[in-house]
Amino acid sequence: MEDRTKIENITIYWGRQESALIFSNSIVVEGGRGKVIIDPSAESDELRELSRHKVSVVNSHYHGDHRRLNYLFTKGEFFAPELDAPMLENNRLFIDAVGIDDAEIKEQWLEIVKGLYNIVEHRITGTFSDGEYVIDRSYDIKAIGLPGHTQGHSGFFIEGASLAIITDIDLTKFGPWYGNETSDIDDFLRSIEKIKHLDSKYFLSSHTHQIYTREQVVPMLDRFASFISRREEQIMRLLDADPCMSLDRMSRYGIIYPKSSLDNNPALVLFEKKMLEKHLKRMHVSCL
Ligand SMILES: [Zn+2]
Repeated sequence: MEDRTKIENITIYWGRQESALIFSNSIVVEGGRGKVIIDPSAESDELRELSRHKVSVVNSHYHGDHRRLNYLFTKGEFFAPELDAPMLENNRLFIDAVGIDDAEIKEQWLEIVKGLYNIVEHRITGTFSDGEYVIDRSYDIKAIGLPGHTQGHSGFFIEGASLAIITDIDLTKFGPWYGNETSDIDDFLRSIEKIKHLDSKYFLSSHTHQIYTREQVVPMLDRFASFISRREEQIMRLLDADPCMSLDRMSRYGIIYPKSSLDNNPALVLFEKKMLEKHLKRMHVSCL
């Protein structure tokens, strides 16, 4: 496929498909006061060239795969959702938001993520919340608050193109991801529902490589949301057999990540557990 798609003043640089965890789609919008890039991440010589100019950067949330090229855009200013901005400014707060209890693993994880995603701290010039224009009106980019994936996780609506960028409500075959301390399953479901009611003709996620029409996206959103109830059904089946099953044991069944991917991968096991914990809390499970 082409590595980019241009629609009027918007250019979408498609993130590499084979590594959805590392690359996300990047969107460049040419506005009233120059260019702005949303989530610099997609590998592209053009984006590297663009970073030599004064281009403002907008991050949808603090995750590394959405800011792995932030470090190149040294001439521009940085903008982020109000609730996630502190994690972009400060690596300590970033790693705290992941929610790792063990101090040693926490440090290790920070080093891994810093290397994997070229994480650098930035001063955030301006923040935005649901319904507000990002940077200013001239760019025609409105923030859509989509909490759940992270607390500040944001989508964007570009009215001129009737395009909704729904970021990490990403419509992938993996399903919703809510493995951080700041993630919330019920918020995630409400955010999916919110997208279904957006008055937008076109929809674009961060990790699939297609622009969807409303007719296409609504059933995809329903399917994406249904992962959550299917995961809970699996948990219920395990608990029916063993009402006091430990989290360690439950995390070996591959309810969220594919079972084979959990072998010898402590980071994925950690996130599997974080997400299972959120389900158990939501389901009010107690074996006493
Ligand atoms: Zn994310």
